[in-house]
Amino acid sequence: MRHSRAGGNPVIQWVARRATQYSTGFPEITMLEKVVIANRGEIALRILRSCRELGIRTVAVFSEVDREQKHVLLADEAVCIGPAPSAGSYLNIPAVISAAEVTDAAAIHPGYGFLAENADFAERVEESGFVFIGPRADTIRLMGSKISAREQMRKFGVSCVPGSDGDIGDDIDEIGRVARELGYPVIIKAAAGGGGRGMRIVRGEATLRNAVAVTRAEAAAAFGDDTLYMEKFLERPRHIEIQILADEAGNVIHLGERDCSMQRRHQKVMEEAPAVGITDKIRDKIGRTCVHACKSMGYRGAGTMEFLYEDGEFYFIEMNTRIQVEHPVTEMVTGVDIVKEQLRIADGEALSYRQDDIRFRGHALECRIQAEDPDTFMPSPGRVSHFHQPGGPGVRVETHIYDGYSIPPHYDSMIAKLIAHAETRDLALARMSTALSELVIEGIKTNIPLQQRLLDDAAFVAGGTDIHYLENKLGLK
Ligand code: ADP
Repeated sequence: MRHSRAGGNPVIQWVARRATQYSTGFPEITMLEKVVIANRGEIALRILRSCRELGIRTVAVFSEVDREQKHVLLADEAVCIGPAPSAGSYLNIPAVISAAEVTDAAAIHPGYGFLAENADFAERVEESGFVFIGPRADTIRLMGSKISAREQMRKFGVSCVPGSDGDIGDDIDEIGRVARELGYPVIIKAAAGGGGRGMRIVRGEATLRNAVAVTRAEAAAAFGDDTLYMEKFLERPRHIEIQILADEAGNVIHLGERDCSMQRRHQKVMEEAPAVGITDKIRDKIGRTCVHACKSMGYRGAGTMEFLYEDGEFYFIEMNTRIQVEHPVTEMVTGVDIVKEQLRIADGEALSYRQDDIRFRGHALECRIQAEDPDTFMPSPGRVSHFHQPGGPGVRVETHIYDGYSIPPHYDSMIAKLIAHAETRDLALARMSTALSELVIEGIKTNIPLQQRLLDDAAFVAGGTDIHYLENKLGLK
């Protein structure tokens, strides 16, 4: 199973050899002796590092073009699971499960994206005798449909964005009636949607029929499920989400909020914690609401409840039943290693913290670094000729790239996350700006210039901008 580590970069090979020489880990973990990391890129490396700290052996699974991924070279074992297109590899359930079988692993960590929120996968993993590092399959299924998630949350006393009671159905007159009752603009959303896709804003009756048809077709093609629902389109909300941790025994805590309002095409570009203007009192109230909801549904593992926040009110939009890209900002302000907690929870341990142990210190920002043209947003895969990463107090870089690494065109274009933490938001902004100026990624195009522009933007610096701000600023609307 151990593939030959013929990676191109001699330094990475050197580090990989060292990884086998240094002993790591604390004897905290009892059951999870070996974990399959069913992902790629920065998150795979992030999971690998936490596993090593806990003394857990790792199995990397990779596609044919990912042989030289850093985590593949560093893992204890590595298994090729298929061709470059993710349908044949990272989304190939039998291949991932066989990798766990042949390496005699105990558990599978799905990371984010790919199979992370696939309830059938979680079920098959557990049926095959492995631990799925995430919530139970029925919880994933319940939260996987945004319609059933809304229904559940309402039952638990969480307010949702006003919208249709459920599936909007096929009767266009009835759909029109619901839209009028909510008041335009409305947003048509796919129940199974994700990644910012499968939603369409409708500003008046004239475009309703077409919007429903197009969104339905898109939802069927992208998610294999054309069920749609409708929400009131909020004009100037912020996106604020709450990080949750829950153990098998039913202990649930929240780790406060993140503000992810800087978005383009409903996708996050920069995130921060805490959110400007969210006082301890507000945090405590929404945090308690989330903890209550998670306790009521028997939630297990790490999760995030996402809200739109407008005029002092939180409206639930969805729950992500996995680790999120932006988890580091929460880790920086709370000091909690969320991936490690996921592993401990999967091992059957109790949470390392009680709610009272959680203190929020300073402010953290995260810039998502994308391999893309900063003006056209077209992906820019290719070979990284030079890579130089920033450092210093409070600066954290999560990336799998290195000098000479070739970014394949087949996957998401996020190649790094740059995180800055400091005592205050102003200092964190200054620290991020300095760090961005030191970050060098040559050979491909990146969105570093866009992130720099954002840090210089007066309204962003003042704080509290809404979800439409970035697109308006870029003249995309
Ligand atoms: P996904 O699962 O694709 O991430 P979400 O339901 O989480 O979809 O929504 C993603 C983003 O889309 C939100 O952060 C917000 O910017 C925008 N959005 C979603 N619902 C609404 C709404 N009702 N009004 C305004 N914006 C919305």
